[in-house]
Amino acid sequence: MNPIPQSLSPDLLATLRSRTPLLWLNPGLGAPLPAQAPDAAAVAQAQARLRRCAPLLMALFPELKPSGGAVESNLLPVPQLRRASGPLAAGDWFVKADHALAVAGSIKARGGFHEVLSIAEDIALGHALIPAEGDRLALASDAARALFARYTVAVGSTGNLGTSIGILSAALGFQAVVHMSVDAKAWKKDRLRAAGVRVVEHAGDYAAAVAAGRAQVQADPCGYFVDDEHSLRLFLGYAAAARPFADQLAAAGRRVDTRHPLFVYLPCGVGGAPGGVTFGLKALFGDAVHCFFAEPVASPAMLVQLAAGTDHPLSVYDVGLDNRTEADGLAVGQASPLVSPLMASQLSGIFTVSDRQLMKDLYLLALYEGLTVEPSAAAGLGGARWLLASQAGQDYLQRHGLQNHLDQSTHVFWTTGGSLVPPDERRRFLIEGERALQADS
Ligand SMILES: *Cc1c(COP(=O)(O)O)cnc(C)c1O
Repeated sequence: MNPIPQSLSPDLLATLRSRTPLLWLNPGLGAPLPAQAPDAAAVAQAQARLRRCAPLLMALFPELKPSGGAVESNLLPVPQLRRASGPLAAGDWFVKADHALAVAGSIKARGGFHEVLSIAEDIALGHALIPAEGDRLALASDAARALFARYTVAVGSTGNLGTSIGILSAALGFQAVVHMSVDAKAWKKDRLRAAGVRVVEHAGDYAAAVAAGRAQVQADPCGYFVDDEHSLRLFLGYAAAARPFADQLAAAGRRVDTRHPLFVYLPCGVGGAPGGVTFGLKALFGDAVHCFFAEPVASPAMLVQLAAGTDHPLSVYDVGLDNRTEADGLAVGQASPLVSPLMASQLSGIFTVSDRQLMKDLYLLALYEGLTVEPSAAAGLGGARWLLASQAGQDYLQRHGLQNHLDQSTHVFWTTGGSLVPPDERRRFLIEGERALQADS
């Protein structure tokens, strides 16, 4: 256990410990980025890698044919959801539908595919199997498969990162190993095994699974470990989402500038996915974009780390929380030490959400817009409610002079996963959400 620093106020601690949902505003917003922050060129390189690998991905996964191998999601207007949210709702509302990303079914496709593709390129370049430039179709050749079979790609995951890394590594011919905690969803383990991935179960939580995987691969000269807590390649893969997303906003007729603010609500686990997207968006839109993370009340890992304001690690266990939530993609006790220092100056704030609330929101999204997402992905749906209808939200709007621009604002809920959820499980979520909604109304 780490000691709780003085910087965490007793009030905040008490609220967190009582699992009362809150919106926390980041006092560090607008400070300079730390010197070790990646630059725009690094994000551009990640975009270029995904682009040159698109023909390869299309060859490996026929379901990517319609997009030419691009792993991209739609930007969907959600006017019914907005209307149902009452008189306070402002601006135009959208869902960024990463829950429907092909092959991996979650936002982890972005970071995970980018990292596996970089590993494959590195190995193939080292063996002079591919030229420095050009498409990467040769990575699907028999020679490449024979080469990759000598290497292991391993990852620790609560489920979705394992799916993304496991499916692509196995498709390229790597030995794919996914370390998971025993309480990870059974259907996620089954799906991985069916794709030829070795699943190793660990007794502890997600961090324990990551640590075990890291230790095993470090002893193996032909082993690569995709390190969710430290990987810059994952982060840059997520950041590469920003440009195509900006193009979609423009195509939808949404302007983004200081008089036309953009609010983006992103579910946060270890921080890589929402952090990468935020980093990419801040580089494009600067002060005109306002990014908020959503975390379960039992797992506010990024919140405690940023609120503590230190680089010393602090976990949700340290403040007396148990990290138990239905939102398995967000069940992370400790924020990424790579990402939290970057978010310290870029993130607008973090709100927490109870499992009951996210099930209700999951149900409402299905009811009004016909979109079914997994619990983790529903965590961000309360974002506009917090911003527009809470005292902390009002404070934020006032502090940034945004009240008069709300009519021209754009609100985007990033739905981060869900299309691979089995029908039975999906039905269970919907029933649970509907019951909670009826009981509370
Ligand atoms: C992993 C995940 C997130 C959060 O991503 P992090 O990089 O862990 O912060 C959000 N939603 C879903 C569905 C996820 O699987």
